[in-house]
Amino acid sequence: REPLVRVRDLKMHFPIHSGLLRRRTGAVKAVDGVTFDISQGETLGLVGESGCGKSTCGRAILRLYDITGGSVTIAGRDVAHAGPNELRRMRPTMQMVFQDPQASLNPRMTVARIIAEPLDEHTRLSRAEKTARVHDLMDRVGLNRAFANRYPHEFSGGQRQRIGIARALALNPRFIVCDEPIAALDVSIQAQVVNLLEELQDSLGLTYLFISHDLSMVRHIADRVAVMYLGKIAELSPRDDLYADPLHPYTRALLSAVPEPDPEAAAASSRTILTGDVPSPANPPKGCNFCTRCPSVMDICRRIDPDFREVAPGRHVACHLYDTTQDGRPTAAPIPTRQG
Ligand code: SF4
Ligand code: MG
Repeated sequence: REPLVRVRDLKMHFPIHSGLLRRRTGAVKAVDGVTFDISQGETLGLVGESGCGKSTCGRAILRLYDITGGSVTIAGRDVAHAGPNELRRMRPTMQMVFQDPQASLNPRMTVARIIAEPLDEHTRLSRAEKTARVHDLMDRVGLNRAFANRYPHEFSGGQRQRIGIARALALNPRFIVCDEPIAALDVSIQAQVVNLLEELQDSLGLTYLFISHDLSMVRHIADRVAVMYLGKIAELSPRDDLYADPLHPYTRALLSAVPEPDPEAAAASSRTILTGDVPSPANPPKGCNFCTRCPSVMDICRRIDPDFREVAPGRHVACHLYDTTQDGRPTAAPIPTRQG
């Protein structure tokens, strides 16, 4: 089956200028060679610590930036190289739900106008048709349509995120990047918003890139999970495989920091405590990006950046622990699994 979203070797580098003459002296490699597909109707979770490049990656895919390199196609159309008019025509297909509904909603506009804004820009609906569409969208996201003429500050955080979701849905998108959509919300309402996103996915056939630092939430919503570290994907695996048997040392470290609900399993699991700071994306280490913090680091890791490749069906990892000789034998010592 053709993937809806196809990302190949995506790069988003931001130039650094310094000195009196503001010469270009380097680049922050926020996204540095990211490759994945997302199937129609699928949710791909994109996880990692803050600053790893996951938000930049989501925005680059939607061409909110002019990307540095690589390719992105959505529904068979080349997003990465589209000109302004083409991009405008593609915009309805691909939308974004932002982390902070407070900051992303214009405080001077009523809810009805906020939700109708994309309709004004991209459609020629009559006034009455727009009102009907706004009401329909408010119903879909669980907002009372009697509140259509209120302003964002009159709503709770969870309701404001519903407004943001209604606006994202206005043009019948196929693909939505959800960038930490619940991170700014009270824990008590996070699940409600996640459930709403799941309901909408089922009823509208939506495809999501779900960006989050919250591994428990991603476990709940994602079909597959990509783990990002310092601008690169360390591991991409089906959800159950990733949580039961993480392959990349960084995935293992992240998961061992997540509280284990079952106390017996918690006692049995070997904890990996990450030491050291995340290196700057302006000055990543030579070789593997994780080599300065990896508990399994080997000599080769400091010299050669590992390829991101499929090591088992559907399981992709960038790590020399999975290198093999030409006849397929592992070159590194066997890797202890979580199960022991
Ligand atoms: Fe660790 Fe080496 Fe694998 Fe990088 S390539 S994650 S440093 S073992
Ligand atoms: Mg972010």
